[in-house]
Amino acid sequence: MRQILTDIADFFLPRTCHLCGSRLRDTEKVFCVRCIETLPRSLYHLMPLNPMERRFAGIVPFVRATGHFIYSRNSELAAAIHDMKYRQFPSVGRRLGEIVGEELNMAGFFSGADCIAAVPMHWWKEARRGYNQVDHIARGLSKATGLPVVEVLEATRSHKTQTAMTLQQRQANLSGSFRIKDPEAIEGKGLVIVDDVCTTGATLRTLSAEISESVPDCRIYLLSVCVTV
Ligand SMILES: [Zn+2]
Repeated sequence: MRQILTDIADFFLPRTCHLCGSRLRDTEKVFCVRCIETLPRSLYHLMPLNPMERRFAGIVPFVRATGHFIYSRNSELAAAIHDMKYRQFPSVGRRLGEIVGEELNMAGFFSGADCIAAVPMHWWKEARRGYNQVDHIARGLSKATGLPVVEVLEATRSHKTQTAMTLQQRQANLSGSFRIKDPEAIEGKGLVIVDDVCTTGATLRTLSAEISESVPDCRIYLLSVCVTV
């Protein structure tokens, strides 16, 4: 039945790859296999003290950290990320979450992890956008890894867009903007904090500082779908 519905939907609304526009096969979702293969991977998870981990080492406690795809402006991936965030394509986030989850899971990145939490968005921003794209990434990760998504983090205030800020400006801008609403849920747990793009690392840094202060025995894994170099 499901297959018939897919066929009918495909006939009227052909499903196409979000990156190259080619028609998707039944087994493909959002991106075609060829585009997935050519996405620029950092392979940071295979390196000891990788460049992402170096951004946080000695500043906040964490078990592992990685950014899976290299983000560069004007790339096809950057266009897809833009669509995911601003053009009502949360499905792109979910699919990216699945891909990242499958690849990192195979490499043992999540060993010792118990649950996943998305970097939260302030409710007002989420209401205007209609969704938090990182929630969709977290769901994709959860599907690929079997780890549950927990809603323990909250953005307590809306902060200014950070695109043009330095690390120091970003941290000042973010200070006090997150709250752990359910500390007990992550006590003694391995928590994967997921974000979409990591540039200076200020968001993940602020959030993990907040968590390690409120829940010192929570083991933190930092994961961003994309990372700038
Ligand atoms: Zn494609």
